[in-house]
Amino acid sequence: METTAAFAGFRCIDCGARHDAAESHRCPDCGGWLDARYDHGKIDLDHGSLTPDASAGIAAYADLLPFGAETLVTVGEAGTPLLACPGLADDLGVDAVYVKDEGLSTTGAALDRGMALAVTAAREHGATDVALPSMGNGGQAAAAYAARAGLDSHSFVPSRTPFVNKAMVNVHGGDMSVVGGRYADAAEAFRDAMTDEEWHSVAPFVSPYRHEGMKTLAYEIAAQLDWTAPDAVVHPTGHGAGIVGLDKGFSELATHGLLDDDAALYAAQAGGCAPYATAWEDGADEPAPVEHPDTIVGPLEIPDPAGGEWVIDALESTGGAAVATGDQGILEGAVSLAEAGITMGASGGAALSGAHVLAEQGAFDGDDVVVLVNPTTGNKEADILRSHLMSKGI
Ligand SMILES: [Zn+2]
Repeated sequence: METTAAFAGFRCIDCGARHDAAESHRCPDCGGWLDARYDHGKIDLDHGSLTPDASAGIAAYADLLPFGAETLVTVGEAGTPLLACPGLADDLGVDAVYVKDEGLSTTGAALDRGMALAVTAAREHGATDVALPSMGNGGQAAAAYAARAGLDSHSFVPSRTPFVNKAMVNVHGGDMSVVGGRYADAAEAFRDAMTDEEWHSVAPFVSPYRHEGMKTLAYEIAAQLDWTAPDAVVHPTGHGAGIVGLDKGFSELATHGLLDDDAALYAAQAGGCAPYATAWEDGADEPAPVEHPDTIVGPLEIPDPAGGEWVIDALESTGGAAVATGDQGILEGAVSLAEAGITMGASGGAALSGAHVLAEQGAFDGDDVVVLVNPTTGNKEADILRSHLMSKGI
């Protein structure tokens, strides 16, 4: 397996054990999360080394990834715009607000970044098939990247998954199992299938490459803010790979002297399924599973998030927090940005409604720069957003 010279295998977040690049999933000693390590002394970077490039996809950042540009499976993910929203800055009482519009990624989702890396790793490990449970976006991305890599994909999605996701899994040539019930039922069907099959899991926080790929989001935000860190990034959060990735990405830039400041990271969740926000409020070290998840915002309905304590640690160490808002506020947030011309997904609306709550709590200062991440395009969730308008008689 050909890796970049600086890639130095993994460290287990739970037990601290070091593992070489031959590992591909969880820690073989304790089952904990693996975190990719690098010999940063072998990497010579300047700001120009990390210039976003939509055509190159995450290969634009190959210096800081496990695989080189010639190896990476990419379909032009990343390189998404950072859009200024001056009106929102006034509303939130801060200096500037930007939307990082990940809906403009290849399959319309931020998780393309991690999927590109995870599918690359699967192919490099000799896999012929990748598999995962998903609320829809992950399945769609896995199908697209597996197709690009010449692999087969197997997605397990609950019946409530949006039509666009299901259709595009098929269109990309992926295999899909639609499971009655919710995410936990799809995850159980996935686990059952994995006991019989030799498929390579690309599930979040099972493949260490899913969260690793998300760190490129931090590189891009910093580059687009002329190599400054925003004061706050609000990221709608299901499993939490975005939070872990952002924390690592900003830290690596500081390691290389490319960034002086820190960004506080905020996880925005839906009130009907808010394990991180509940844990945060309770002062708990890790989230407890939500017994009866209920939110219309499907990508956020993850009752037992795989990032667990690692996500809470990232929020804490950056001076951020987790926050939850109700479905109506989330949908209103998404629609209000759509009315400003941004194709905001329903889950992206949680970033804005969460930011309003944080502003009321005094989390922001008047001179702060705040970035709201839109993790999915509104085109995938047009029915949910349109229904919200109809509920208001529009
Ligand atoms: Zn371990």
